Amino acid sequence: MFGCPGVGKGTQAKLLAKSLGITHFSTGDILRNAVDNETAAGKEAKEYMKKGELVPDEVLSDIIQDVIHESNGFILDGYPRNKQQVKYFFEIMSQESRQLNKVVYLKADREICIKRMKARGRDNETEKTIKKRIKIYEEETLPIIEMFPPSKVMIVKTLNKPEAVNQDILETLSHSFSQEIFSG
Ligand code: AMP
Repeated sequence: MFGCPGVGKGTQAKLLAKSLGITHFSTGDILRNAVDNETAAGKEAKEYMKKGELVPDEVLSDIIQDVIHESNGFILDGYPRNKQQVKYFFEIMSQESRQLNKVVYLKADREICIKRMKARGRDNETEKTIKKRIKIYEEETLPIIEMFPPSKVMIVKTLNKPEAVNQDILETLSHSFSQEIFSG
């Protein structure tokens, strides 16, 4: 799942995981849990998360390796988020003989994303951190979409209700998979 903070990645990843019967991993959720449980990763991540900054890549590396190693099919939400993470992601995927099926790129106007972030009321999402998160997304995360094969990227707008967007995703997925089977 790819897209701006507040675009609905978590909501859509959950719905899609349910529809497809596969696991949903959110690096944000994993890190929030780690902070609550005061694990080593959590202690390292805490201050960055509070400020709305990206947690250092090394903190995420083991988490991602475990996720990819332990699961056969999964939806990854919140990773990768910069160039270094994309490189690491492809490296581990290849090591574990896993294939990337699709990048679901969720899109909505920035104002809508900001409104949604304000509405969900997480402690670390103040006016200031929301601005910072959007800036980091635009500078570090958005450019990485170019690092995926264009044929893998599917764009879905998240303007409608969550269930309707989920239907859009499922429909687009079924088209692209049947085309792949057809051509391949
Ligand atoms: P999220 O719930 O995906 O918005 O993530 C919440 C916070 O967790 C982010 O603001 C980052 O501080 C941290 N985080 C989640 N995923 C990553 C990642 N891939 N790289 C670095 N930091 C991350």
